[in-house]
Amino acid sequence: MQSQLAKSTSSKIVVIGSCSVDFTAYAPRLAKPGETLHGYKFITSYGGKGANQCVAAAKLGGNAYMICRVGDDQWGQQYKQYLKELGVDVSHTNITPNVTTGIAQISVADNGENQIIIVPGANNNLSTSDIEQSKEVIKQADVLIGQLETPFLTTLEAFKLNNGIKILNAAPARTGIEEIFPFCTILCVNETEASILTDLEVNVTNAAIALKKLVDIGCESVVITLGQQGAVYLSKRDQQPIHVPCKNVKPVDTTGAGDAFVGALATFLVTHKDYPMHQIIGAACEVATISVTKIGTQTSYPTNFKAFTKEY
Ligand code: ADP
Repeated sequence: MQSQLAKSTSSKIVVIGSCSVDFTAYAPRLAKPGETLHGYKFITSYGGKGANQCVAAAKLGGNAYMICRVGDDQWGQQYKQYLKELGVDVSHTNITPNVTTGIAQISVADNGENQIIIVPGANNNLSTSDIEQSKEVIKQADVLIGQLETPFLTTLEAFKLNNGIKILNAAPARTGIEEIFPFCTILCVNETEASILTDLEVNVTNAAIALKKLVDIGCESVVITLGQQGAVYLSKRDQQPIHVPCKNVKPVDTTGAGDAFVGALATFLVTHKDYPMHQIIGAACEVATISVTKIGTQTSYPTNFKAFTKEY
């Protein structure tokens, strides 16, 4: 099946990262150890931070490529086909034999509590030999995006090869990644990730201090997303932090909001090259804010989004 989504640019957005399938069971409460509970709803959905960001970009008209590994189970084939139908280039989406596709087994209780078990599966097999195989597309990328759900050294190797815009979404939160900072054009983190990297309790009031700390560690520029407070940005060049607030909405499901932001940021950086950064970030916030008003992760990301119809 051909994708119905029109590409609004030929610039390449290349994502290197994770692809996982989420199995979510809803029950009145969480099960205790050893207990069997009856739930009332079950949903299977496509996830993984890398794929979420890639899909967000493709849905906005981005010319998106996914470099990842899935397993040789039914989910690997299905995920690849699904990405293809969204118009994502899957020629570097590789299947690893005898390994399962990454999964997240999620239980959600009526009071909102959840339990999550992640099995990375084939995501752990994304190696530097994949980078060697995909080096042409990595070099050609106008924007290269990485996260931390696949092996760090693989992402580092890819970032070293590319001279375009490189966005590192340092999620899930962890330390010990400073080696990659000099190769990042934009480090994009949420408050939790920023807190772990800076040793501060980052929030909207001290975000400027955290930005400065991260730029001083070696990042060219940094975005910290602040949930309902929007996002802040600082570049080494300007030395002046900017805060872009977002629209006040009633969130129904904030899962994957940060990934919507990253995918949108990448897309607008190539579709609106001459726009000032606060406009680009404002539009990315708008996309992420739309996503929190709908149930689901990739299904909540907008298509037919008219960006820059207003000043942010
Ligand atoms: P993550 O999903 O990684 O935790 P954030 O919570 O910072 O990231 O959210 C990323 C972006 O999603 C924000 O910058 C904002 O644009 C949007 N967003 C998240 N939560 C809300 C909310 N409650 N209301 C409006 N927008 C939101």
